[in-house]
Amino acid sequence: MFDLKKRHSFALPACANHVDVIHAPDDVRKIIWQDDSYILGAGSNTVFTSDFEGHLIVNRLLGSSIVELDDGYKVSLAAGENWHHWVARLIDQGIFGFENLALIPGSVGAAPVQNIGAYGVEVAKFIESVEGVDLRTGTAFQFTNKECNFGYRDSVFKRAEYASFLITSVEFYLPKAWQPCLEYPDLKDLPTDASAIQVFDHVVAVRQRKLPDPMVIPNAGSFFKNPVITSDEFRRIKQRHPDIRYFETADGQFKLAAGWLIEQCGLKSLRIGGAGVHQRQALVLVNSNQATGRDLTELAHQVRKQVAQRFGVWLEPEVRMLDNRGLLTL
Ligand code: NAP
Repeated sequence: MFDLKKRHSFALPACANHVDVIHAPDDVRKIIWQDDSYILGAGSNTVFTSDFEGHLIVNRLLGSSIVELDDGYKVSLAAGENWHHWVARLIDQGIFGFENLALIPGSVGAAPVQNIGAYGVEVAKFIESVEGVDLRTGTAFQFTNKECNFGYRDSVFKRAEYASFLITSVEFYLPKAWQPCLEYPDLKDLPTDASAIQVFDHVVAVRQRKLPDPMVIPNAGSFFKNPVITSDEFRRIKQRHPDIRYFETADGQFKLAAGWLIEQCGLKSLRIGGAGVHQRQALVLVNSNQATGRDLTELAHQVRKQVAQRFGVWLEPEVRMLDNRGLLTL
């Protein structure tokens, strides 16, 4: 019996019986993919709402290499490496670029899957290629940045037909020419010539102030994605809610701040059983008191329903929720 409570940061009570842990490339070859298989990284973006009856594959591959080129660094990291550890380590070594992405929980292998982003920087900007094995066929793959089809918190790896694609390593390119990226409101206090270390320290401090530490209050970070809507939909909503918090995207669509939508519905204090909406950041749902999967599912339903009733927008989860059979659609 494999206790999943400690294997996902939302820490709901759950177990699995059929688990393969990958520590080395040889372990990958031994995996037999089944229709109910699911690949788990560090568990910071997956929530087990009940015991999992399928086949769990836990990716713990470690390893790294850094090659200095004339104008930058090629950094290759195995999928099971800890993301934040490498953000800090690279900055210590004078290799900059990841500083806005400090303190994002999770593994390196999860970074391309949802194209992690924070404070105006997305990891896709630095990814050269993603390597792995399609466990269904045993065939190795190497996807270029373009083939990963990165979007806003999105990539090909999120599609159902890529569910068996195990990421083994990610190759990044971090150019030596570096400029701080400071356009997000929380970074406005920094001087325009802030160093990467200053940005890193500041991002860490802001996140520690605003976001609950999963080790103290279990959570899975942003629970919902910021909805991106068309200009027509946006005009309709803005007429009724002139103070709405939004950002125009490069392709002329509009991104709404999901945390703001939830807050406006007066849901910051909403609690269902042991699950609740976080007091300081409404986009984060928390396991504040021994929540069950049912508490969380009901809470997520309530939040989505009330936001849809008030703003006409259905929030989509950023996290992956699983029930006993597999991926759960809210
Ligand atoms: P915030 O500063 O309160 O802003 C709320 C939302 O507005 C953010 O989600 C952000 O979208 C968007 N935003 C703010 N300034 C923007 C700008 N200049 N251009 C475009 N969009 C802008 O956000 P927060 O909750 O404290 O989070 C700060 C950053 O950390 C955000 O980038 C957020 O995504 C990231 N974060 C990620 C997670 C996660 O679990 N994935 C958890 C916490 C924070 P974006 O989210 O698109 O950046």
